[in-house]
Amino acid sequence: MGEEKKILEVKNLKKYFPVKTGVFRKTTGYVKAVDDVSFYIREGETLGLVGESGCGKSTTGAVILRLLDATDGEVIFGGKDILALNRREMREIRKEMQIIFQDPYASLNPRMTVEEIVGEPLVIHKMVSSKKEKKEKVVELLENVGLTADQMSRFPHEFSGGQRQRIGIARALAVGPKLIIADEPVSALDVSIQAQVINLLQELQEEFGLTYLFIAHDLSVVKHISNRVAVMYLGKIVEITGKYDLYDNPLHPYTRSLLSAIPLPEPGKKKERIILEGDVPSPVDPPAGCHFHPRCPMAKDICREKTPVLKEYTPGHFASCHLLDQ
Ligand code: SF4
Repeated sequence: MGEEKKILEVKNLKKYFPVKTGVFRKTTGYVKAVDDVSFYIREGETLGLVGESGCGKSTTGAVILRLLDATDGEVIFGGKDILALNRREMREIRKEMQIIFQDPYASLNPRMTVEEIVGEPLVIHKMVSSKKEKKEKVVELLENVGLTADQMSRFPHEFSGGQRQRIGIARALAVGPKLIIADEPVSALDVSIQAQVINLLQELQEEFGLTYLFIAHDLSVVKHISNRVAVMYLGKIVEITGKYDLYDNPLHPYTRSLLSAIPLPEPGKKKERIILEGDVPSPVDPPAGCHFHPRCPMAKDICREKTPVLKEYTPGHFASCHLLDQ
């Protein structure tokens, strides 16, 4: 892997949704879904982006792909700030950045055959010049994801959940992307199928030199596939580092609580479970100071008043917690 070649750099990204109330729909506040998020992904690596639902991880993915407009910040891809590109320029970039969704059934048109679904991006991006060429390319893509040519004329409902996700992956691969944002790609699948899809994604990464932003709500899911992991809480990244560092030496109390929820592989062995009080607070009016303080077992007075900053504590290991400065 090229040591420092960054394929994607996200700088101070913000996505605020206005909250409108009253008859005149006046903006009375903002949901800060993504609040000053910065990270990078090196070419060929997988960055896991993890947090509970509502933490802003999927919104981050959608803003990077410009499926949602950013409120502020930069997304540098291939040396360009893609948030500043016009529609035509963005269409070109879309070939290089693709997304795989959580629910393959909802993202596949039920009235289209697999051949039409996987072949559609080839036609849109004018990557094939005849029906024959399209068919050949679709067969190749299906074989890449472990499906077969004789399944081409079937419809999505004729497949299992895992197979449907394979169709979604084939469609994403069709245009030859460099970066794939996988938005909870295995969350809707049975545990036994999850590992198969993750293994497939890893094989494809090696074969095609892909880079992944792998979004999940569970640290155990991203452990196998990620090189580095970022943990998000209420719109902010609270910790980011290499995967071994994160799992062996977590710095942030929120990361520690997420890790404590993962069962140990050896049966009979127990570890201390850190149970968090309450749910994730509303991002409309997040707690002052450290957003995590109402649930943090380590919270001190300073945590209620001052927002901690994401700082580097050991090379490449960043976290935001006042306790780490004491
Ligand atoms: Fe907990 Fe305080 Fe650290 Fe926030 S800053 S994670 S509340 S100890």
